[in-house]
Amino acid sequence: MRSQWLSEFALSEKDEQRLDNFYRDIQQESELFLGYPCNGIFDYSPLYRFLQYPLNNVGDPYLPGNYHLNTHDFEREVLGIFQQLTQAPEGNTWGYVTNGGTEGNHYGLFLARELLPNGIVYYSQDAHYSIDKILRCLGLNSIMIRSSSDGTMDLDDLRETLRIHRDVPPIICATIGTTMKGAVDDIVGIREIFHDLALNHHYLHADAALGGMILPFIDNPPPWNFLSGIDSISISGHKMVGSPIPCGVVLAKKRNVDRIAQSVEYIGTLDTTLSGSRNALTPLFLWYAFHTVGISGFKKIIPDCLQMSDYAIKHLNQLDCHAWRHSYSNTVVFDRPLASVTQRWQLACQGGISHLITMPHVTTIQIDRLVDDIKAVKPVPVSTCDSFTACETAIGGSGQDIILVGNEDTNILTDVSAALASAGISIEDLTAIKVGEGNVVKLKVSDRDRSLKILNQTLDIGRCYGQSLPFDTNEATQILSRVDYQAVSGDALLVELEDKAGTLAMLMKQCREQQISIRSVRLLWRGKEKAVVELASSEPERLKELLADRVLVN
Ligand SMILES: *Cc1c(COP(=O)(O)O)cnc(C)c1O
Repeated sequence: MRSQWLSEFALSEKDEQRLDNFYRDIQQESELFLGYPCNGIFDYSPLYRFLQYPLNNVGDPYLPGNYHLNTHDFEREVLGIFQQLTQAPEGNTWGYVTNGGTEGNHYGLFLARELLPNGIVYYSQDAHYSIDKILRCLGLNSIMIRSSSDGTMDLDDLRETLRIHRDVPPIICATIGTTMKGAVDDIVGIREIFHDLALNHHYLHADAALGGMILPFIDNPPPWNFLSGIDSISISGHKMVGSPIPCGVVLAKKRNVDRIAQSVEYIGTLDTTLSGSRNALTPLFLWYAFHTVGISGFKKIIPDCLQMSDYAIKHLNQLDCHAWRHSYSNTVVFDRPLASVTQRWQLACQGGISHLITMPHVTTIQIDRLVDDIKAVKPVPVSTCDSFTACETAIGGSGQDIILVGNEDTNILTDVSAALASAGISIEDLTAIKVGEGNVVKLKVSDRDRSLKILNQTLDIGRCYGQSLPFDTNEATQILSRVDYQAVSGDALLVELEDKAGTLAMLMKQCREQQISIRSVRLLWRGKEKAVVELASSEPERLKELLADRVLVN
């Protein structure tokens, strides 16, 4: 009956083709999936039959409700497994299967706010981007704490900041495996600060999206879980466990949760979760993973992932890429390669660094191919650098400044200052330098990352910081001629050169003679006679000496 009704609504041939093409594209892209921490290996086909039913886990997984097509039994078992993995005190933790790490963080900070309505949230510069948004949703006051260069929260800065705000209860959002560098914040150190400053009311949420499924399976992990004193934790399910649908779990102390429970008559249960209707398939997937791969399987898989990280580090470092990782993390950080490489391999970048994450699906063959790709484009080939247009492009480094390069007549100063002012960002310092008929502007702003985003949007900059560049030089040149100005990051040198054939080749030759290796070269702007080029080098000081008065900004 039901299927008869549906057969009237078959797809057209064209649409069938569209799906087939999409399927092929996905298959291809999945071969080049190195940059994001999502395990691509799973087989949930025995569960496909459950896709026929409108399953829904609405309501509290621990309480009976009126919607019976649910997987609450499986959900509770999954939560039980994660309670063990996080060393939660038996019977004292509550939780549910979320739509992902972000929802778990939202829930954890929501709980914290209910418990400490006047609290201030402290989180590090390296915290996940979702934290900012969640804080705004919840209307929480917050202070960002500096990160150390290894990606962990700088506890000296935290201590100083907490000392100043001793009258307000702290809510700490610690990261257990930062997104970019895989760093784990020092939970014990944070609790010591609470103790030293006699801060008796506090809340500690752990964002363990990836780390929460790695640390339980390695020897001597840093402290990170309920045993170390956290109050709640969020772990992603689609990252290390692997799932075709994003998911995660959040766990929190039961006595805290009881304070915000609300009864809802319509569904006949307590409304304790952030979402109303909730995915009922993902608890089944997670349950299936833990009943097939299981704890013993992950105990093998995760050390294998770390070995694969070491393989990547070894081979990247043969190319002088400065690759490293934390001992407890499968995130490999290395010098940002050219855009063609980061695009092809879906590598996330931040300033001058990129990372790859050796999830279970990553093979030595893929690493070898990545390394070959980096090798192929790495040294700027002097022979092809006869004129600027023949040069490959790349975005270099990170820094505190934003640099804009453009034609003088583009009203760059008016546009930029208006855009930033309307977003409430103040310009703290500004330098403008004239080059031929062009203009180089250096800005120091109160919020650099947001400013870059805003400049990207407002100024319609085709090639801007953090965005991928077209590798094809013709295409790059075309885009360059279309855009008026572009933002670049601040740690590379901006150099003024004569725009004529051979100038850059000469410069490259000099660098080579002086044994200064150039990481990237990028043509930012060209006028009638002059051009501005961004050069990134592993020895910026020596490069600066060599270039002397041709350096515009550094
Ligand atoms: C991925 C990630 C998140 C977000 O998790 P989603 O499951 O993508 O919502 C949050 N925090 C950290 C540290 C992450 O790596």
